[in-house]
Order: sequence, then C-alpha cells, then structure tokens
Amino acid sequence: MNVGIGPKITALTAGERATLDALCDCLFPPGAATPGAVTIGASGYIDQALAGPYAVFVSEYRAMLGSLDQAAGGSFVGATDKLAVVAALERDELPGLLRNPDRTTFDLVIRHLREGLFSDPIHGGNKDFAGWKAVGFPGAQFGFREGEQKLDYQVDRQPQSLTQVSQDARLPGLPRTIPSTAGIPANPDVLIVGGGAVGNFMALKFVRAGLQVVILEAGPPRTGRERSMDELLATAFRNEGGAAKFNDEVPTWRTRPGEKARRAVMSQGLETALGGNSIAWGAVAMRFYEDDFRIRSATAAKYGDHRIPEGSTLADWPMSYAELEPFYEEAEDLLGVSGHAGNRENPDRSRGNPFEAPRANPYKMPALRTSGLGQLFADSAKAQGYHPFPLPAAIATTAWNGRHACTYCSFCSRFGCHVDAKASAQNTVLPEALESGRLHIVSGARAMEIVTDESGRAVGVNYLGLDGETRFQAGGTVVVAAYAFENSRLLLLSRSRRHGRGVGNETDQVGRHYMTRQQPSVYAIFEGKRLNRFIGPTAQAMAIADLSGDHFDHSDVDFIRGGRIAAFNQYLPIEASGVLPPDVPRWGEAWRDFFLSSYNSTAMLFIDPEILPYENNRLDLDPDVKDKLGRPVIRITFDIGDNERKLMQYLQDRAEKIALGMGATRTWRRQFLTGPISTHDVGGTRMGNDPATSVTNGFGEVHDTPGLVVLGGSSFVSLPPVNPALTILALALRAADHIISQNTGAAA
Ligand SMILES: Cc1cc2nc3c(=O)[nH]c(=O)nc-3n(C[C@H](O)[C@H](O)[C@H](O)COP(=O)(O)OP(=O)(O)OC[C@H]3O[C@@H](n4cnc5c(N)ncnc54)[C@H](O)[C@@H]3O)c2cc1C
Ligand code: SF4
Repeated sequence: MNVGIGPKITALTAGERATLDALCDCLFPPGAATPGAVTIGASGYIDQALAGPYAVFVSEYRAMLGSLDQAAGGSFVGATDKLAVVAALERDELPGLLRNPDRTTFDLVIRHLREGLFSDPIHGGNKDFAGWKAVGFPGAQFGFREGEQKLDYQVDRQPQSLTQVSQDARLPGLPRTIPSTAGIPANPDVLIVGGGAVGNFMALKFVRAGLQVVILEAGPPRTGRERSMDELLATAFRNEGGAAKFNDEVPTWRTRPGEKARRAVMSQGLETALGGNSIAWGAVAMRFYEDDFRIRSATAAKYGDHRIPEGSTLADWPMSYAELEPFYEEAEDLLGVSGHAGNRENPDRSRGNPFEAPRANPYKMPALRTSGLGQLFADSAKAQGYHPFPLPAAIATTAWNGRHACTYCSFCSRFGCHVDAKASAQNTVLPEALESGRLHIVSGARAMEIVTDESGRAVGVNYLGLDGETRFQAGGTVVVAAYAFENSRLLLLSRSRRHGRGVGNETDQVGRHYMTRQQPSVYAIFEGKRLNRFIGPTAQAMAIADLSGDHFDHSDVDFIRGGRIAAFNQYLPIEASGVLPPDVPRWGEAWRDFFLSSYNSTAMLFIDPEILPYENNRLDLDPDVKDKLGRPVIRITFDIGDNERKLMQYLQDRAEKIALGMGATRTWRRQFLTGPISTHDVGGTRMGNDPATSVTNGFGEVHDTPGLVVLGGSSFVSLPPVNPALTILALALRAADHIISQNTGAAA
C-alpha cells in the first residue's frame, strides 16, 4: 500500500500535527547543512501513514502527543525544555501513554521517523530526496557498474524514486502473472500444504513424473517482483501494517521452561504468499559440509563423547552428504547458482571455498563480482592465514534460462528482484509446473488440520478458504511444507482419536530440537572511507569457512563446532539508521551527526555461528496467546548454551581482528543472544531413523502417520553455519523422488 499515491489523507488534527512536528524536529533537528525532520517530510509521512497502513497506531500516537503537551505544561510546541520532555518519553515515564508489553511508544515513533526520513518519496516523506541526499544514498537505480563499487569511488548519481526506474528488463518468455487454475481434482496424487520454496520445487518434479498435484497456499498469488526497490514496503509495512497471515500469528519466545513467553521480535518476518520466502530470500545458496551429516559421531570419535555439551541432543543425520549430493546438484541447476568451486575436482579451486564437500560439477555461472569492501575483507583475512571465497548465490551472473543477469541494484534480500536475476519459485519452477496442467494452486487456502482416517493414515487436509468456508481436500500423499513454525503447529493442532497428542507426536517429539540462528555480528567503521555498500546484493559477500564446523582443531578450545564470518553488501538507509555503537543515542543531534557521517563508512562482519540442539529448546502451542482465529500461536523456548557463548566470543575476537586488519577505525559487537530469527529456524520435525528421537524418516515420512510427509527447515537435525535453503531444497527433491517411486513404481 503506497500512502503517498493519490490525495493526501492524514489522521491527526492540526494541533496534534503541530506537536508531532515539534517532536520530530527534536528527534532529527535541522543542522548547518541538513534540513530537519519536518522539512524532510518525516512528520508528514507519519501523519499519512496513520491514515493508512498504520491506522492501528492512531490511539497510541494521540495518547503520546497529549502526554507531551501535558508534560510540557500545556503545549509541547511552545516549551523551552523540549529535550527533557523527550528524554522522559524515551524512558517511558510520561503519564497517559498507552503501554505495549513488547515495546515503548518511543520505539515506535523512532522507527516511523526513520522511515519518513529515508523511505522512497512515494510514501510521503523524504521530500525532494532530502533524506537520501543527506547520507549520499542514490535511491532506486536500475543497477551499478563495477567501478562504482570500488573503495572510495564517489557515486554522484542523482537520487531516484522507484517510479523512475525502468523495471521492464525481463527477457521474453516469463509469465507476468500466475494463471488462476480451475478444476481442482478431488483426489490428486499429492496434496501440498504451502506454496513456498519446498512446495513449488517438489511440485515441478511431481508433474514431470505425470502426477496430479494440488497446492493449498494460505496467501495470494503474485509475480515475484512485488516490493522491488522499496525498503519500506519490503520491511516495515510488510511486518507491521500488512495483513499477511504470519503477522497475526507471530510466535512468542521465552528462554526457559517456566517463564512466560512474550511476542518474539522476528528479525525479517515471513512472507505468506505464493512463492513463500523464495522471493524475499537473500539467495545465498551453500551446501553443508561433509561432516555436518555425521556431526555427533565425528565429534565423539575425534574428541570424545564428553565434548558433546551437557543437555545437547546433537545427533547424526539419517543420510550422508554423498546421498544428498545429486539433489544439491539438481537444486543448484533449477535455481541457477553462481559461484566458484573450491574442491579438488575443479580447476578454479583457488577462488572457491577449499573446505567445501566434493561436488560432481562446477557451479552454473561464475560468482558475483567482488566489491571493494569484499576485496578489503579478503586481503585482511588472507594476511591472517584464512581462505576467503565468494559466497555462492542463486543469482544469475549471466543471462540464465530467461532471467536477466544481476544489475547489483542492492534491493535484494527481503525484496522481489526487478529483473528476475535472483531465483524465486516464480521465475524457475512455477512456469513449467503450471504449463503442465497437472499443478493446481488454491490460493487463500489456509490449512487448519491434517485429517487422518480410522487407521491413522493421513488422507487430506481441512482448510479455510477466502470465503470463510472450511473445506476438505483429499490427497494420496499429504506433504506439509509451511515453514518450520507452521509445520510443527499444524501437526500439534491435528488431534484425533488415533493421534491424541497431534499427528506425528506419539513419542512427544514434535517441536523438539528447535534451533535458530543467532547474529552476533561485529560492526566496523572506516572513517573517511567510502564503502558504497548501497550497491550490490547481500549475497555479494566474501567469507571465510576456516573457522566453521571442524575445519580447525578443537583440542585446545573449550567449545565444539564453529561459524562463518563474511562481509556482506546491501546497506539501505532505514535499516542502517538503527545501527549504532553503544555510546551513540538513537535521536537528537548526536544521532543525526553520527549517522550522516558514518552511513557510507560502516561495514558489518556477519557471523553465522553453528547452533546446537538442546533438550530445553523446543516449539509448542502457547497456552495463552491465540491468533485471530482463536488458535494458539507457536511458543518458542530457546536459549543458547555455554558452548555457543564461548564459540561466539571466539568468532567475534577473530572477526574484530580481521576488521582491524582492514583498517577499521572503530568496532563494536552485537550481543550473543539475538533471539529467534525467522529465516534460519530449524528443527521441530527432526528427521531420523528412531521414532523415539525423531518425527520423520530421511524422506520426511512421519513415523506414526502413514501418508504424511513433512519437509522444510523443520526436518533439520543440526544447524551448521550455512544458509539453510539449498539443503532444504535438496532434502525436498530427494523426498519427491521417493514419493514418485511409490506412486509410479519408478526407481528412485
Ligand atoms: C528475508 C529472508 C532472507 C533469507 N535469505 C536466505 C538466504 O540467503 N539463503 C538461504 O538459504 N535462506 C534464506 N532465507 C530462508 C529461506 O527463504 C527459507 O529457508 C525457505 O524459503 C524455506 O522454504 P519453505 O518452503 O520451507 O518455506 P516458505 O518458503 O516460507 O514457504 C512456506 C509457504 O507456506 C505457506 N503457508 C504457511 N502456513 C500455511 C497454512 N496453514 N496453509 C497453507 N499455506 C501455508 C506460506 O504462505 C508460504 O508460502 C531467507 C528468508 C527470508 C525471509
Ligand atoms: S539479484 Fe538482487 S541485487 Fe541483483 S538485480 Fe536482483 S534484486 Fe538487484
């Protein structure tokens, strides 16, 4: 929803607006060379947003504006001690504020202010690009040349709104819209819950094998280009103002049993629409390492059983890397993955990851180019004895199967790609699958429960349609692929005489072994340098894997396993304006001056630590919090163990050393425990051979419920320091072959 298009509608009275203006100019005051928040249009943006997507916050704003006037003795506008009143607002001490258990009103206002300063002008703020000009952000550009990514290059393009960018570079042959399908078969061979990455990639294999497939997708159809180049729509509006199913059922989180769980702050939010998170993803597409699949036995054999942390439920996977390798290959082929191979089979290994597991073939395309920042990272890492490599990515670097090559626009992770360079279900598998006539997608179909017959076999799903009617859809095999949270939730909510604790839950394993990535990054400022991180996708990163897994000897350290360190691109101003060292306040002159001077000199050394599974960490149904339909949301119980704390300390020390080697003039660290992430959530329906410790076998078949298959990150046994989607897809493609062989008798 674009609040800035059409006649301007505002929510506040003239008096309220005057108070808001005064507040905004305290938060981002005019400076010698920069206009203040009101001139930039931030307060106007907020007023318009309150009449649109943020209408839900109007009462909270009214209460806050009234509180400010009251605290200022009647009129905040005329007060001489405005900053003291704002400081009291920040401390949440003003009488009359509406309280929210998860954040303060000040938190909300600051976020909205940053949006008004730095979002695309089409939303009503950032007038004449004043916010972008203040930080040197060129806005929505079709793409950037390689030279512009060199360190210290002065990018002097005129800022542009996304309305000025030609988004019509699509090569011929791709459908603009997903055709609606009619004539849903009553009893298809396969019924899939969730039209995301897993659902669509499996569907292609099924229709190629001649099977009839129905996908129930809770969200609407879409082309895959939605939210391209619009930081606001891709983040805040999606998570706060949007109506996506996930926003109504955000899980709660607590660190240990016995505590009351509170709404989890999800770092990215989840898409609920056709294509799932295959559109929003950052497309880093890495395989696991060989020993990740025998993590418990390899650790015990090398260091002794006593090194497995107490309380950890670490286990081996029910398959080896070698068994999964052909399916990694297939997934990379369908996605179009670019990169440099580093293993011995490949001639260009010097440019790749020397620790990677054997791969039968090289990557499909050369890696994304190396940015100036990436080179700086690589030089420093190399000087310290590491082996930097470009992250493989499901991003076309040459024209690929009707997709344009990446233009390095930088609106990548969380955005639809404006030229389809980034792989999504829409620009890879869906066109062919739909063309077959054997894939039928029911959009707006929200699965409510898995239905089993008297024998306990899954026979279909009850779903709620857009018309509010609940219907039954049968399927020969029922595949649940609705992301980690919903996979466990659906199983737990599907109770019957045969499945009293929920399907798949006979041994109380559903929801157990949950893991979620923590992001204890190290930030670094390179004073006086231009990094130009507003160019290039997140995935355009140089990384090291020397400290991952067991790639270094752990005999003399007091933890097991490791993590990846990488320098990513994509640094957009709404998000960036919240990245502050501990001694910089989040408002006022000090904030303004810090951000304006450091935006283009700030880098992040991103750390992906391996997270182990623990007995206490699990998903279950929250006894107190329900979604709009009155169904319990998922409750996350999750904390990191001592092993992870020691590991993160070790990784941060080394990341900081690399940053200093790069010439950083200042560094600071994020905390270790950053909470559930919503992109790398795994476990809950663990794969394994023993029903006492897992929910499914290695093909995702639920041990106690024939006919039911559950797949996705929820299947994971462990969480190596690698992005999950490629492994998720490889597992799904392998399982698809298994289902096909059962349906057709073809050898898997
Ligand atoms: C911003 C972002 C960046 C990411 N970057 C990366 C990356 O760089 N590399 C990487 O490996 N991974 C990344 N990920 C993670 C990756 O996108 C997911 O791992 C992957 O999409 C999981 O696939 P899935 O099919 O299991 O779930 P999804 O793709 O989430 O699909 C689930 C589908 O199920 C639907 N659904 C949910 N509930 C129901 C219901 N009750 N009934 C019917 N339908 C339902 C949803 O609408 C959705 O379409 C990222 C994710 C995000 C959000
Ligand atoms: S892949 Fe990412 S960076 Fe490249 S053009 Fe697409 S959205 Fe932009």
